[in-house]
Amino acid sequence: MLMRFVLFFSVILFITSCSVFKKTAIDPDEIAMTVDLDTVNIYSGRTAYIETPAINSRLLHTRLKVDFDWENRRLNGEATLRFTPHFYNQDKLVLDAKAFDIIEVKLLENDVKTNLDYAYDSLELTISFDRTYSRNDTFEVFIKYTANPYSQDFLKDGAIRGARGLYFVNHDGKTEGRPRQIWTQGQTESNSFWFPTKDKPNQRTTSEIYMTVNDSFKTLSNGELYYSEMVGDGMRTDYWRQDISHPPYLMMMAVGEYAIVSDTWRDLDVDYYVYPEFEEHARAIFGNTPEMMEFFSELFGVDYPWEKYAQVIVHDFVAGAMENTSASVYMDLVQRTETELKDRNFERIIAHELAHHWFGNYVTCESWSNLVLNEGFATYSEYLWADYKYGKERSQYKLHFNRRAYLSEARSRINSLIRFQYNDPLEMFDRHSYQKGGLVLHMLRNKIGDEAFFLGLQEYLTKNALEAVEVHHLRLALEDVSGIDLNRFFNQWFLSAGHPVLDVNYAFDTTSRQLNIKINQIQNFENDIPVFHFPITFKVLTTENEWLEKTFNVKKMYHDFDWELESEPKLILADPEQILLAEILEKGKSESQLYEQLKSSEHFFHRLNAFDSLLASVQDIKTSRTVFREISKTLDDKHWYIRNQAIERIPLTELENLKSSFKNKLIDLYNNDPENRVRAAALERIFKDFGDRETISMLGDLMNVESYMVKAVALRNLYDFNAETAIDFVLNNLETNNPDLISAIGEVLSKSFIPEAQIFFQRNLNRLSFRSQGSLLASYNKYLLGSSFARVRAAMPQIENIITESEGSRTRVRAAELLRDLRDINRKRITGEEIKDDAPFKDVKISMEDSEQIVELVSNVIENIRLKTDNRRILNILRN
Ligand SMILES: [Zn+2]
Repeated sequence: MLMRFVLFFSVILFITSCSVFKKTAIDPDEIAMTVDLDTVNIYSGRTAYIETPAINSRLLHTRLKVDFDWENRRLNGEATLRFTPHFYNQDKLVLDAKAFDIIEVKLLENDVKTNLDYAYDSLELTISFDRTYSRNDTFEVFIKYTANPYSQDFLKDGAIRGARGLYFVNHDGKTEGRPRQIWTQGQTESNSFWFPTKDKPNQRTTSEIYMTVNDSFKTLSNGELYYSEMVGDGMRTDYWRQDISHPPYLMMMAVGEYAIVSDTWRDLDVDYYVYPEFEEHARAIFGNTPEMMEFFSELFGVDYPWEKYAQVIVHDFVAGAMENTSASVYMDLVQRTETELKDRNFERIIAHELAHHWFGNYVTCESWSNLVLNEGFATYSEYLWADYKYGKERSQYKLHFNRRAYLSEARSRINSLIRFQYNDPLEMFDRHSYQKGGLVLHMLRNKIGDEAFFLGLQEYLTKNALEAVEVHHLRLALEDVSGIDLNRFFNQWFLSAGHPVLDVNYAFDTTSRQLNIKINQIQNFENDIPVFHFPITFKVLTTENEWLEKTFNVKKMYHDFDWELESEPKLILADPEQILLAEILEKGKSESQLYEQLKSSEHFFHRLNAFDSLLASVQDIKTSRTVFREISKTLDDKHWYIRNQAIERIPLTELENLKSSFKNKLIDLYNNDPENRVRAAALERIFKDFGDRETISMLGDLMNVESYMVKAVALRNLYDFNAETAIDFVLNNLETNNPDLISAIGEVLSKSFIPEAQIFFQRNLNRLSFRSQGSLLASYNKYLLGSSFARVRAAMPQIENIITESEGSRTRVRAAELLRDLRDINRKRITGEEIKDDAPFKDVKISMEDSEQIVELVSNVIENIRLKTDNRRILNILRN
């Protein structure tokens, strides 16, 4: 899974994603990184060991017949479940079944149904048999039920918050511009919101689903679509069946109006379910899927094992994407036109979800404690695909950002990858399980070599096919193939916490001609963090421009290595290929060595490091010609990210002629850089430091560039520069569907108060998924603060609806803040209290009467919401 979006976790996610959206030089990986990680920020501190769920009876087969009550957001279901006792005799069966109305529970024997006794407590259904079953028996139960995923009572006091398993989008059809859809999200244990099951990752089932829907909808589920049949009243039943077993959390349904674009891989169907208006772009979005399937099949030594592969876009998806078996689900941000894809694409997520079809779906972690066996591999597979398809520049960048993501989380909390203490399994979906997991696999691969690693994976996948595993299964397979004892590696990296923090000191002794390298492990050794054992490689560039390399084995806290060299090296690189997961704090590098590092390192990461170190250490960038020139060379770096960093971070020189050559370079990058992200950053910097009329006019028609990302930067800056042109552009582009441009237009409208604005805000709040609504709500907030009573009144129903209905917690918060601000600012207008804000609404004249009406109306709306919600965060924002 990517990007869980769960009520109590999603706050930080949304803040990050919103602020990234507002920034100009948007880095897609960065967005994806901040959005896709479950930046779970709660640490339970729970210490009790969580056992892997016991298997009393094993689920064998699931047969579902479902139809939908759109109006009430319910599902009518009939489930037939086949089980066998695992080892011990069983006279009862306990199923997960959340927020159901149970209608019938029967035993099914030779097509005869007999009633069974049961007890139901809204979380579990306990069925009693009148005989005992042994492990040689199978038995079938039939359950007729109604699923109520929106049951308020249940959500309020239930044990599970923030997930409902089954979602209806625009269920009453009243929200103009929003698609009507039904989709599911099972991970971690939420599929039991729509069918009764043993909702645990160490169970597996084959499945059949009969879905009855209006004929205008397409459906998608696991396995193959065997047939569709009209059943009267314009309704159709689709029959989906998967004959290969998978855990219940991977079962799925999606219903909506889709265009299906079909590809193939070998002789399998590969389908892309997109919105009809994106039909012509479906191949641009998903078209590399067959090549990925071939690549992973070859690399992992096991052919893609499922009956088909489909990918579907859904509205308001609560995760970023989900690897449901043979039917992956994606948030709608992934759906982009070809022009938009040049700004940003989400192919890494496509690789991630596909890789789960081996790691997660085919071989499954037996408990959420072992989640790294799913997510670490899926994250590492993003790297593998990037390395194969786009080469080292791209894959090194991924390594670097995965490391940075993990290290930033590790600053606030450090856990072992495999851990048995948590309050909610969602806590496992963090940067440890994803990024650290991927980086540890990369080290493991380098430790035993490519051939042993991938043959080991093949053995792991083959031996444990269609079974649940724990981390030792992986170790045993890799040991078996390589003949190497990997206990220490696994204990250190999977079962202990933390990573080495290395203090590395270099000193060259000219008499003995020795490069002395002192390595000190200085991590905090509390909380299970060990002294690490690892190899570390150093690489030097000699004065004769020859590269030399040496690897040292670190086994204790302090080491002192000597390396005989002819002369002092021009450059020293620690861990040249960036394999070791460690923070390496280097000391003793001279300024000239850093310049050399900036110039001569093949690896993107070392150039970036040198750039960071130089910016931090060199004092006279602004005043020294030589220093400024040297550092400005990064504007020509071959990696777009370093060019981007250079544009944003090199301080402005005080030397006039260098200043103008810097400006010319920015103009050149804006005009010619192949990366839109770099062009956008260059334009932002030009406006910031050289925003005079003459320079801007040299850039040509800013609003006529193809890239939306660049256009959005232009528009944001243009308003303060030439409001008339900006508003002209806005009025001609109110219908745009591009999220970057929508956000930029929203900002302009928040300053201009033109009447067309309200329709724009309302239309897009209806249309966009919650993930894209945040910055729009912030702009709408400012706009309404400069608006009359009539406009505020027209805004209220939608805002109230967002606060009480949206799946995005940050969105709800933003909408609540909007109400609070409307009330409080207008109160201040009435009392004449100073308004401490420099936004344009401050200067808009609102009549006293309007302000009074606004305060009264908004206070009433707030009262209404108070009655409907028990969300403490919202209540806190809306307190008087
Ligand atoms: Zn995943």
